Amino acid sequence: MSQTEKLLRELIALPSVNPAFLPEGDPHGGEQRMVDFLAATAAQAGLDIELQPVLPGRPNLLARLSPREKTRCRIVLAPHLDTVNAADNLFTPRKKNGRLFGRGASDTKGCVAAMMTALCELARQPSRPAQTEILFAGLVDEENGQAGSRALAGSRLLADLAIVGEPTCLQAVTAHKGDLWMIMRTRGLSAHGSRPELGRNAVHAMARVVDLLETKYAAQLRRRRHPLLGHPTINVGSIRGGTQANIVPDSCEILVDRRTLPGETEAGVEREIHSFLRKHRLDVTFDRGRLAPCEPMETNPKLPFVHQFLSTIGQRKPAGVNYFCDASVLSRGGIPSIVFGPGDIAQGHTADEWIELDSLERGKNMLLNFLKSLP
Ligand SMILES: [Zn+2]
Repeated sequence: MSQTEKLLRELIALPSVNPAFLPEGDPHGGEQRMVDFLAATAAQAGLDIELQPVLPGRPNLLARLSPREKTRCRIVLAPHLDTVNAADNLFTPRKKNGRLFGRGASDTKGCVAAMMTALCELARQPSRPAQTEILFAGLVDEENGQAGSRALAGSRLLADLAIVGEPTCLQAVTAHKGDLWMIMRTRGLSAHGSRPELGRNAVHAMARVVDLLETKYAAQLRRRRHPLLGHPTINVGSIRGGTQANIVPDSCEILVDRRTLPGETEAGVEREIHSFLRKHRLDVTFDRGRLAPCEPMETNPKLPFVHQFLSTIGQRKPAGVNYFCDASVLSRGGIPSIVFGPGDIAQGHTADEWIELDSLERGKNMLLNFLKSLP
């Protein structure tokens, strides 16, 4: 069994479910077990360990490999440590037909194992980079509010490149979409169900809003194109309104997910939807569905270290992905970021999550080759 597989098995057996998805005090909650285990692993390889406080009992793990000479460059390896929830049997790693099953196998403990193993191997070789510091940053809370990457970005860390770990099928990703959640409400006037003409039906008004968003507005979005990301999308994910059959409902609420392209801002999108609905004579109020913004990310593939990464892994053109991740946050904090990792996002969050062990090992080797190529 390879070191990477061995580490991944150990990580799967250490539940690190984001506490936001669990009842308070649930034993599977929090990243601390992962942090402790990885800190011990990294310390054994001679890395310097630091815990960066983020949330109570949920620090980021920083493990540093210093260069032989003075530090002139810095590369950050930044996978997240938390996962979504799972049935109990997913916390026991299980191997079948070259695949390792378990919560986080793809999203994102596979990346954690590949990055940590590559870094530890490099640390044990005599030929570590002369002038480049490599910082492994295991980040907490990506699956919910991204408190970990927001704390790292807020610490004013300077770096030339962050490789954010997500299962990209070993593709270097230089752009991803942003994700705006909106709560929209229609107001009506309640009346007795036998005299609907005396009221104003908020559910009916919302039905027209939903229809227009899912048809005309969605069609408008399909006409926009980004070379790596295609078009923006909209999804009405939830609807709630009224109380019972014999009352004209006076309010209705929907939750809307709008995936944004680089160049689109949250305020701009809200204005656009507002004026779209006004044009159709629909009166809707808006609230943000999230505390912190989740903006799109785009990194110039011609930046020297991005270019070097692409050529080391033998990829001619950069790729894009639809999902939001920590790369956006780090990028906005001033660290040019790309996304890379073994595994497939299609397996993330599923009831039988797995990773191809061959992809895991290849990912570790690609990372190690890149780290070895650094000045
Ligand atoms: Zn992830």
